[in-house]
Amino acid sequence: MQKRDILIVGQGLAGSLLALELEKRGKNVMILDNNPIVSSSKVAAGLYNPITGRKMAKTWLADELFPNLSKYYQDLEKKMNTRFHFSKTIYRPFNNIEEQNDWSLRTMELGYAPYIKSTSSHSIEVDQLLDPLGGFFVNNSGMVDVATLVSACKKYFKAQDSYIEWSVPSEALEMEEEKIKLGSFVANQIIFCEGPMAAINPLWSDLKFRLVKGEILDGSCSLTIDHVVSKGIFMLPYKNYLRVGSTYDNHNQNEEPTEKGSRELLNRLSKLYSGNLKVLKHQAGLRPATFDRRPFVGFHHKHKNVAIFNGFGSKGVSLIPYFAMSLADHICFGKKMPLEVNPLR
Ligand SMILES: Cc1cc2nc3c(=O)[nH]c(=O)nc-3n(C[C@H](O)[C@H](O)[C@H](O)COP(=O)(O)OP(=O)(O)OC[C@H]3O[C@@H](n4cnc5c(N)ncnc54)[C@H](O)[C@@H]3O)c2cc1C
Repeated sequence: MQKRDILIVGQGLAGSLLALELEKRGKNVMILDNNPIVSSSKVAAGLYNPITGRKMAKTWLADELFPNLSKYYQDLEKKMNTRFHFSKTIYRPFNNIEEQNDWSLRTMELGYAPYIKSTSSHSIEVDQLLDPLGGFFVNNSGMVDVATLVSACKKYFKAQDSYIEWSVPSEALEMEEEKIKLGSFVANQIIFCEGPMAAINPLWSDLKFRLVKGEILDGSCSLTIDHVVSKGIFMLPYKNYLRVGSTYDNHNQNEEPTEKGSRELLNRLSKLYSGNLKVLKHQAGLRPATFDRRPFVGFHHKHKNVAIFNGFGSKGVSLIPYFAMSLADHICFGKKMPLEVNPLR
């Protein structure tokens, strides 16, 4: 039997960043992942944006998450010797005059200044961009190429002898008072970072996941713009193509791209961009969300050495680094975790 401090099931963004934080704190980890072709992390657009939604409000924990986020990913790029982080300004065009007015009140609220780059009350005059009422530019925003990050981490963990490819069946887990046995491994603790797959793991049947399917198109077009445009859908210029996403579908729990999804995206795109998108790639995935929009981070109610790190929904890129550090501090130094993310809440 190989002895490890902690086993981690799943190597998406959650498992990768948690493993790195535990390793930084001196833990000897082993990651087990089934290396799927499609996963939430492999499909994610990877945007992080402190001001979101129709209300154009700061997202949950914005002041804790965003000031250090780009530095976090830049440091990780250095460690992995791979580029996957891109600081990108997000431009949010106004839908109507009412929104313009709401926004001017918003800008006067305390605590918004660090996230606002500028506001324009008229079109920013980018050829073929449909923004007659102008909009605002967000600061502290950007994009992480999550698939590249996960692939770089996999290479890193393999080189450390901390990764094996295995689709872990739930019945293979042997839980004892002080230790965990799984295949040829014995460990003090195990942490499940299974993304949407947790919804079918009997260990977590008490937790209610809300899996939200999302579809994304990559294509070529004649739009020349550096920043991301976000209004209901996003247009993300990346490499030599434009990425357009995403749909939100609570009913179909599969990872199949659909004609309906593509039509919906192109239809919404036509309200933001007057040119044509030549679609080159169409992907779909499931977001591991929860009903109260808070992740599940913490230990099992019956098994004190079994934990979960999941439920990051559509905000994995901004939430996962912060909660990976919090959970690692909790495990290694006994620091308290916020009740809001406790799986038993
Ligand atoms: C279309 C779309 C667009 C998105 N856009 C954004 C965005 O712009 N910004 C943002 O922040 N987030 C976005 N997200 C959400 C983001 O992708 C997720 O929050 C994040 O990737 C979740 O990571 P995870 O590690 O929890 O899950 P996953 O990436 O699904 O990773 C889980 C891993 O565990 C493996 N696994 C599961 N069970 C087992 C088992 N029993 N044995 C072995 N391996 C197992 C899986 O195969 C997988 O490799 C988007 C998601 C989708 C689908």
